[in-house]
Amino acid sequence: MEEFNIKTSVRFGKDALSCLGEIHADKVFIVTDPYMVESGMVNQVTEPLQDRKYKVFSKVVPDPPLELVVEGVKEVIAFRPGAVIALGGGSAIDEAKAVMLFARQIGNLPEMEFIAVPTTSGTGSEVTSFAVITDKEKGVKYPLIDKGLLPDVAVLDSNLVKSLPPAIVADTGMDVLTHALEAYVSTSANAFTDALAEKAALTVLKYLIRSNQNMEDSEAREQMHVASCMAGLAFDRASLGLNHAIAHNIGGKFKVPHGRANAVLLPFVVEFNADIQGYNPKEYTKAAKKYAAIAGLAGLSGGTVRMGVKNLVREIQKMQEMMHMPAGFKECGISQEEFRMQSDAIARGALADNCMKTNPRPASEQDISEILKKAYNGGQASR
Ligand code: NAD
Repeated sequence: MEEFNIKTSVRFGKDALSCLGEIHADKVFIVTDPYMVESGMVNQVTEPLQDRKYKVFSKVVPDPPLELVVEGVKEVIAFRPGAVIALGGGSAIDEAKAVMLFARQIGNLPEMEFIAVPTTSGTGSEVTSFAVITDKEKGVKYPLIDKGLLPDVAVLDSNLVKSLPPAIVADTGMDVLTHALEAYVSTSANAFTDALAEKAALTVLKYLIRSNQNMEDSEAREQMHVASCMAGLAFDRASLGLNHAIAHNIGGKFKVPHGRANAVLLPFVVEFNADIQGYNPKEYTKAAKKYAAIAGLAGLSGGTVRMGVKNLVREIQKMQEMMHMPAGFKECGISQEEFRMQSDAIARGALADNCMKTNPRPASEQDISEILKKAYNGGQASR
């Protein structure tokens, strides 16, 4: 028997943030990053709280480290809120998730409502039971996976993503595409996750370039915000794969934004998973057929599975080029020596990552090393 359920209530559209006025608690703890305070965006969350008491914890940094979780846990236990709001990108939401998980375990706290308000269109963290925390000393990112991490409410207000600069739109938007494609070919995919993943992937293929190239394009920004959440719903059930398994290990060791690491790897991982050897349609893998199906729906089919996969890979690379993204980790500023030194540890770490369990094609350490070599230099993945 299979199951598909959505615990998180998703509020979206005009005035979505007004739902914060419905919070029952008297005391609210807000987890966010310094930009949200400096830009005044945090006021959009505090205003609907009216006369409730609130405390803003605004120390979140990209890829939140363990130490910051410990700091947040102490503050939550001391404040004893009845609700927690996470405002920001995946980093702020994941920090809030991890803080709540541990504070609940050790703090003897009252029930806390959890509301996630994403300000990037990328991670889908507002609807997932994942939180990614970084151990800076070991250079590893740990995906925590627990149903208790799921927010009660996710608020999608596309006004909050208007200020995203093009580079962050590119990184986070490619993260959405990676979530959608990994969930789509995952060994745990089902009809429901497929529907969400397909819609999310097609929306990215249609709107990401517009969103990147024109900050005023509110339709594109809104579509990307919804696609990010849909991809989150898809991968929360279907999980992810090799792309994220490697990206988590790159992100722990080098200062490459999460979405950018995923984007660099994506063409090479799609090629690896599709595993197209010859021209006999009977030999095509299920993953190849699914990639080709997405290509077909996006008008990139080329008539055969082989061409469909090839055109999808080309389209991903074309999008990266149009958004001035690095094609390889070399262009991300990582020296060849440093990368080579870490490659074995990255490959071993990727094999141990939870996301590997649902990758459609088993990968060996050697396979991952080959992908890393290609992804360092970038360039044309497609044969
Ligand atoms: P982020 O939260 O790290 O933010 C990146 C930058 O964007 C920050 O400097 C932030 O201040 C800025 N920013 C955020 N919103 C903005 C806005 N509206 N306008 C201008 N600037 C804005 O980036 P992210 O990509 O959303 O999150 C990445 C993190 O999420 C990584 O740690 C990654 O591993 C994790 N992640 C989690 C999940 C999950 O399901 N929990 C899934 C994928 C990735």
